[in-house]
Order: sequence, then C-alpha cells, then structure tokens
Amino acid sequence: KVVNDVRHVRGEYGCVTEADVRHFRSLLGEPNVLTGAENVGPYNVDYMKQASGDSGLVLRPKTAEDVSDILKYCNDRSIAVCPQAGNTSVSSGSVALFDEVVLSTERMNNIINFDPVSGVLVCEAGCVLESLMKYVDGHGYMMPLDLGSKGSCQIGGNVSTNAGGIRVIRYGTLQGCVLGLEAVTADGTILDCLNTLRKDNTGYHLKHLFIGSEGTLGIVTKVAILCPNLPKHVNVAFIGLDSYDKVLKLFSIARAEFGETLSSFELLDNTAVTYVESKLHLSCPITNVHPFYVLIELASSQPNVGQHMENVLEKALGDSVISDATTTDQMSSIQKIWKVRETVIEALLKLGYVYSFDISLPLNRFYEIVELTREKLKDVADVKTVCGFGHIGDGNLHLNVVTSQRNEELARMIEPFIYKWTSKCRGSVSAEHGIGLAKTQFLEQTKSKSAIDLMRSLKNSMDPKCILNPYKVIPAVAASDQ
Ligand code: FAD
Repeated sequence: KVVNDVRHVRGEYGCVTEADVRHFRSLLGEPNVLTGAENVGPYNVDYMKQASGDSGLVLRPKTAEDVSDILKYCNDRSIAVCPQAGNTSVSSGSVALFDEVVLSTERMNNIINFDPVSGVLVCEAGCVLESLMKYVDGHGYMMPLDLGSKGSCQIGGNVSTNAGGIRVIRYGTLQGCVLGLEAVTADGTILDCLNTLRKDNTGYHLKHLFIGSEGTLGIVTKVAILCPNLPKHVNVAFIGLDSYDKVLKLFSIARAEFGETLSSFELLDNTAVTYVESKLHLSCPITNVHPFYVLIELASSQPNVGQHMENVLEKALGDSVISDATTTDQMSSIQKIWKVRETVIEALLKLGYVYSFDISLPLNRFYEIVELTREKLKDVADVKTVCGFGHIGDGNLHLNVVTSQRNEELARMIEPFIYKWTSKCRGSVSAEHGIGLAKTQFLEQTKSKSAIDLMRSLKNSMDPKCILNPYKVIPAVAASDQ
C-alpha cells in the first residue's frame, strides 16, 4: 500500500480468525466486538478523510483489565492493534493502515476523582474533552487545554498526541499538566504511574513515554491532570491589521502589557476568514477587510482586565499598529468570535481536499512560508487556495493548501518543499498534531538520526513484536528508495 509516497508492506502479523472474534466476544460481550463493514466503517476513516483502513474488527473495552486481556492475547497471536480515541487525528494516526484491530476507548469514560482543593482530576482515557470541561467548570476549575475538536476528542487521545490548542501560551502543552497516568503495555502489563503529586523526582519520568507517543508504546487507560482555576473575568478582542510586521509588534505589546493574563494570541489571514464566512455563513467580527486578524483572549481573577485591554488597543490604534478592533466580555459574543477561529478547517474541508501543515517556526519567518507556497503554486490549476492561521503565540502555523482532490504529484512537490524550508529555519515538521502516518518520512527533517535510533530501540524493547500502532511515527522506507 503506498501512502504519501511511502510503500508500506503489511507486517507479518496474525490475521483475525472466527476463533479470535469468539474469544473477544467472551471477553467483552457481543455488543462490544464490532464486525462487518457497516459497523466497522466509521472507525476506518479519519476526520480529514486522508486515510482509510481495512480493519475488520473493532474492540470496545470498558476497563484497563479488558485492555490488558486484549493486548496480552494480541501479543501472543502477533495481531496488530490500532488504538483509537475520538478519531480526530489530523496526521492519520488513529485509523488502521491494513487490517489492524481497532481498540476504541470510547466506553472508558468514567471520572474517577476530582479534588476541589488541589484541582487534580483523575479520569479514564475515553472521557470526551468537552464533557471534562463542563465537569470541572462546575467545581470552579478549567481544563488546561482547549481544542476545536473538543466535542469529539478524548483525553487519552489528547495525552497520546500531547495536544496543544488555543491556551498553550498560558498553560503550556499537556505534558506539563499530566501528573500521572496508567497505561497498558504491549504484553498486557498494567503500568501504574497514576501519580497525583505535583512533585515526584523518583527516577525516570515514565509517563513521558506515553505522552505524545501516539499509541506506539502503550495504551493510556487513566490520567491525572492538574486543572487551573476558572478565571473570573475573560475578555476577547478581534483585531484587524494591515501587515505581518504589525502582528509581531502587537504580540510584543500584548506580552509586555498583559503579562500572565494573556491566555491566547491567535492569527488568521484574510483568506482563512473569507472561507469561514462563505462556506459556514459565519460573519467576521469586524466589518472592514484586513490582510490579517488577531484574536486575543485575556483571563484574570481581577475585574479591570477589560478596561486595560481597551486602553492598550486604543493606544495601538493611535500608533497605527492595528487598524480596527472589537472587544467583548459577553460569553455569547466571545463564543461567536472563537467560532470564527476554530472552524477554519471545517470551512476548508467544504472547499475541497486539504493538505494541512502544522509547523513550528521562529516568529520572524512565520508567515513567509505561506507567501512562498502561494507563489510556488500560483500556476497550478487545481489549487483553490493557500491560507495560514494558527497559534502565533506559540510559533505554531497551520498552513493549508486546498485542491479539488488529492493529487500525488502535487503532494510530492509541496510536502518536501515546506518541510525542508521548515528544517532550514530550525522549525518542527509537527508542532502539535503528531507524526501519525502522514509525516513519518519527514521526521528526520526535525529529529537527529541518533534521536530516531533511540526511538526505534525504545519501541523494540517495549513492543518487540511491534503490535502497537505499527507503521506510525517511526519512518518506514520511502517508495523511491526501494
Ligand atoms: P485520536 O485521533 O483517536 O488518536 C490520536 C493518536 O493517539 C492516534 O495515534 C491513536 O492511535 C493514539 N491514541 C488514541 N487514544 C490512545 C490511548 N488511550 N492510548 C494510546 N494511544 C492512543 N490538535 C492540537 O494539538 N491542537 C489543536 O488546536 C487542534 N485542533 C483541532 C481542531 C480540529 C477541528 C480537529 C479535527 C483536530 C484538531 N487537533 C488539534 C487534532 C486532534 O484533535 C488532536 O490530536 C487530539 O488530541 C486527538 O484526540 P483524539 O481523542 O481524537 O485521538
């Protein structure tokens, strides 16, 4: 099977037999063992419709013990397993490539404990992020991450991808907030690292083996997360600017003026906003058209944060750093503004096939690659648009190229172009979406050979039969090299 110009050969795994299906039914009960194209179909396609698997079996365990039994059995029989949570991966990590068994965590959705003094939440891996947000909100806390996919993604998927999102500038990536976790390794061992302490320097921090390893080293079954207090006052501004240089000036002003209250600083170019308006019929929060828009969110326990935001933006307007702005502290207006930022991918998917690049770059080179890509593709007939948006406060650009359908020749041209350029700037080929299947052959643009060798050796030692999410993260051989 050739995917993204890489020839993947099915590993020498066991094929699922009727006897295996009977075994899993006895273990999990009939309704939690899905077979047949109609039942398995939705688990075989990813959100971006970039990858489709040929799995014929989905298992829905309820407990870590179930997961342990499944993995032990699969390891003994050399059956490959693809862990799947909310299936919102945009790197094609969550669907099978060949006939791997899909292990869905959707039934593992219990909240185990919440400590209202420390703000530590302990829950099962299959809890949907949005439901956790609502739950801790009721206790005066918030989840330390927020993503556009919150209605579907699960905390186990978030941990396994070390998800970023729109509040990294304030709370960091998820790895800093995960205090502990429980995971099941390939041979079925239940590894208890479910620490709820903030400080614990007792040897290797084993939880980090599972944070961001995209299901290749073990299956996360429980997590303990430190939740920040819910801010009492939130203010959001949507700002129009006429150049990227001015966006950078505004970022410097925002960091200096707003300090620890700055919880988001997001960028959208005009092209991205135009498609949100035309494809989703949402209106841009400011009426005049500008080449760039910035969304700033401030969150504080103090009430004067809104007035401060207005004063700073008024001065920036007087100094011609910004061209236009609207601010609000009303929840319904805040949600409307965020919707414009969070639905860009949804709008682009309505336009056509989306080549989505999630790269980290130094801020002074951040938007250059969008312009270079536009220039490179200006005469390519099928290219409908090139746009950029992202978490500029974290140096994380989402660069998107939209065509009517996937075109391998175009992919062969733009993927190396963008990733080589990213590498030259000492950026990262994956800022927050992981490597999955989509970016394995570009990993070496960001990681050294010695680092990739160590990853391989860890994988071999923890999963010698390579049953856990094979073909993902660690590079296979490119088709052109065979
Ligand atoms: P899945 O997609 O099901 O799985 C992701 C990976 O983790 C796969 O490799 C899977 O095999 C593995 N996995 C899943 N569960 C487990 C487990 N329990 N144990 C071990 N491995 C497991 N990402 C960001 O970081 N920031 C964003 O701002 C952001 N915005 C998004 C907006 C939209 C509209 C969409 C569609 C996606 C966005 N994403 C974002 C990407 C995606 O939502 C995240 O990567 C998310 O963390 C994936 O969670 P999930 O539950 O859907 O996991």
